[in-house]
Amino acid sequence: MKNTIIEKAIINLISDPRDKDNCFYGHIIAQCYINIDEKFDGIAGVGYWNDKFNLYINPDLFKLFSIDEQKAILIHEAMHIIFNHFSRQEEKDHEKWNIATDAAINQFIKNIPSNCILPETLCEPREMYAEFYYENISRETIKRCCNLSVKLYKSFDLISTCNVYKSIDNHELWNKSNNDLYTKEAVKNLLDNVIEKSVGRIPIPVQKALKLLSEESQIPWQKILRRIMSNSKNFFEPSYKKVNRRFFKRIDLPGKKVFYIPTLICIIDVSGSMTSKEIIKGIIEIKKICKITNHKLVLIQVDTKVQDITKTDFKNHSFTRQGNGGTDLYPAIEYIYEHKFSYDILVFITDGYFNFNSWKQIPKVPMFFLITQKEIELPTKKSYQFLLK
Ligand SMILES: [Zn+2]
Repeated sequence: MKNTIIEKAIINLISDPRDKDNCFYGHIIAQCYINIDEKFDGIAGVGYWNDKFNLYINPDLFKLFSIDEQKAILIHEAMHIIFNHFSRQEEKDHEKWNIATDAAINQFIKNIPSNCILPETLCEPREMYAEFYYENISRETIKRCCNLSVKLYKSFDLISTCNVYKSIDNHELWNKSNNDLYTKEAVKNLLDNVIEKSVGRIPIPVQKALKLLSEESQIPWQKILRRIMSNSKNFFEPSYKKVNRRFFKRIDLPGKKVFYIPTLICIIDVSGSMTSKEIIKGIIEIKKICKITNHKLVLIQVDTKVQDITKTDFKNHSFTRQGNGGTDLYPAIEYIYEHKFSYDILVFITDGYFNFNSWKQIPKVPMFFLITQKEIELPTKKSYQFLLK
């Protein structure tokens, strides 16, 4: 029963005959993992983790609103996603950022409940990004917004204190969200999907968001690694095991072609000086690139000896760190040679405190060093190094 109210609002949004823009936002919502939860502390809320956009709705609170307002609340959530407000929060003051992001999106939402904040509440012009509003928020503005949110919640017989600003939705989930390039990429992918579905009709606010997504420059190492990987041998290899159907007596003719999937081996320096945060950040980026360029990924953890080897599926981002000793990457290389691993590219995540002099062999494939501290002397022409920030 409770779920039907939410379902109705979503379907109404997707198939809104009066407003084509609403269809676009409806498709965004439809791609979220929807959690209907009576215990959720807020009317709605959205965040990004476990590779998906998670939308929470409290059905008991949601039903207090008219259907037009319910749709407005769903659009509000869709817009927080589109503008990637969780990643852009960074180290900003949460309360100010909550106000700034709401003002930035509410101005585009028809039927947003009254007493939601708008640029006018902040005495600022329309059509600006959240960062602009954020910079100009004074103590008085915060107070004004707090009072307005009390009014908003009162009008639905809900309680809110006047000490902190409370949005129509709950922004707490943003703190739980992944805040990296991966999230931004996920937003882009989501938008690409929906744009395809909506046959070229892109609402103006979404066009603004797209501009923002493409303006922020990508960190160069990902771009370069991706280019190198795209150039690696990605070809069809004929298989002689399968019999050619047309000339089945001629077993010397190749059968069905088998797609060759290249492999990236990522060697991770888990010596004491590397923080897990640095390591995980690098791995997430590499996984993302492997997914795009269709590479197999093998992770090898090494300090003074090989500690762990994992072949990665892309379903989870968990990483369990093994070992904590000194730095020496060569045991991993030796291991690869000994066990006759096939690989097309080597990526190292390291602090840079090791020496190539101790390497008995230097691999011939492209080598990509992501270093956290000390610059290294590159061993071959086909090697690259970048500072992992
Ligand atoms: Zn909000």
